[in-house]
Amino acid sequence: MNNILIKILGCGASVGCPITGCDCNVCKSTNLKNNRTRTSLFIQYNYTNILVDSGPDLRQQMLRENISHIDKVLYTHKHADHVVGMDDLRSSFFYRKDILDVYGNYETLNHCYNNFKYLFKSIDYANQGSRVFFEADNDFPKKSLFGHILSNYESFNINGLKIQTFQQHHGRIHSAGYLLPDYHFAYSTDVHEFPQESIELLKNAKLKTWIISLTLKEGNDAHMSFEKIKFYNEIVKSERLIFTHMGHFIDYDDRSYLEENMSFGYDGMIVSV
Ligand SMILES: [Zn+2]
Ligand SMILES: [Zn+2]
Ligand SMILES: [Zn+2]
Repeated sequence: MNNILIKILGCGASVGCPITGCDCNVCKSTNLKNNRTRTSLFIQYNYTNILVDSGPDLRQQMLRENISHIDKVLYTHKHADHVVGMDDLRSSFFYRKDILDVYGNYETLNHCYNNFKYLFKSIDYANQGSRVFFEADNDFPKKSLFGHILSNYESFNINGLKIQTFQQHHGRIHSAGYLLPDYHFAYSTDVHEFPQESIELLKNAKLKTWIISLTLKEGNDAHMSFEKIKFYNEIVKSERLIFTHMGHFIDYDDRSYLEENMSFGYDGMIVSV
């Protein structure tokens, strides 16, 4: 049960922190915990390196954390700050000398396929019961990825690690949350509201740790406010909340409003489960 490592690779909002050209206190802060690369999570389980989202900082994150390669990727949604590092998965393909499995909902993987066609060897539309193989193209014969489209509440496992996806509302699109039921651990980034079914699932999971995005305290159309996170956790009752996807509105040095079971994440943070 304990052969798992969970680490926050990045906890910054879409433009990172500091933001280029910004003179605010957080962007100018000397506290390295205010220095945030784009949001991503690393899970190592039984020697399998699992990444949640490949943002624009993926290469630097892997070098910083001495991660030689990625074996599997879970995608939360299609926004650029979560997917544009897909091209950098090629180095893991070279290392492994084998295809990488990538997982996500239809909206996400379809978008990735349209933008990174040259990387995809095939896509498995599991729900529709079909598997599509793409032709090798002459420009890019070494295709690196195998896409697995997940339904909104699908359970699956990666080398024995049980994973369940759940739906989240994120502005005009949906993002996927990921639950590791055996570890009472859930990951929810980029969400402004949860469907009832997701809240029920999380409540029944008896969460010990919930990493959830706090882009800005007041929230907006795509991201929930601090108050709304508290509201949801009154139902879900996770023992611990760790915030990620933080914009420059969130100062690591101002933790006065956090409750005892809450903490800000930071790049490189190991999350014990
Ligand atoms: Zn984002
Ligand atoms: Zn700033
Ligand atoms: Zn987003």
